[in-house]
Amino acid sequence: MRDIDQRLDGDRRGAVPSYSHSHDVTKAVIDLGNTLVGQGLLSDATTPEVIVVSAHDAVDVAALANRVFSRFGDWSLPFQPSESDGVIRLAQLSRNILRLVAENSVSLAVVALNDLFREQPVILHMSLEAPWSLHHHDPAHAAVQGWRIGALAAIGDLISSGGWNRIGVCAGADCNNLFLDDTKNRSQRFCSYACQNRAKVRAYRLRQREERVRRVGR
Ligand SMILES: [Zn+2]
Repeated sequence: MRDIDQRLDGDRRGAVPSYSHSHDVTKAVIDLGNTLVGQGLLSDATTPEVIVVSAHDAVDVAALANRVFSRFGDWSLPFQPSESDGVIRLAQLSRNILRLVAENSVSLAVVALNDLFREQPVILHMSLEAPWSLHHHDPAHAAVQGWRIGALAAIGDLISSGGWNRIGVCAGADCNNLFLDDTKNRSQRFCSYACQNRAKVRAYRLRQREERVRRVGR
């Protein structure tokens, strides 16, 4: 009996991720949006210009989506280059909602989410293998259709479980990247070490300049 208990315990330890599926999916979709903005394939402008995706970019976009979502081993179909417009749209929808959340306009984010939920039929489905994630789409759906529902459901779940105040916008100059703050005391301000270091260098140079001005002024 003890052996079985220990084994179950071990299985549980191995299977249970450190964060919830919704947390991980939200992080993945944030990553997708940040990367597409970095590549110039998604715009944060209020009235975004139409970005034409070339055949070459379409292959890259599909590869990126596959990379971002591949950590979820139970996904069904891979993204195809023909789905690249849908991938960009998915990233944009999620990003717009997450940006509202980051700006504390959670009610507006929820209204937008509900509008999108109404467009999609939700089919509950549990993956057959650990960690037995609950999905909101038919596994036979094309990747972009499935992940669109999956990403929006994950954001909804994150908001409803109180994680909404962990979504932030990078404080780096010229950086609009979003992040999901995993620090214990919710102290994350930057999307990456690169942005954090750039801000440090900037602050250091500013202090030096102020110091010089003070010395000259004396
Ligand atoms: Zn940043």
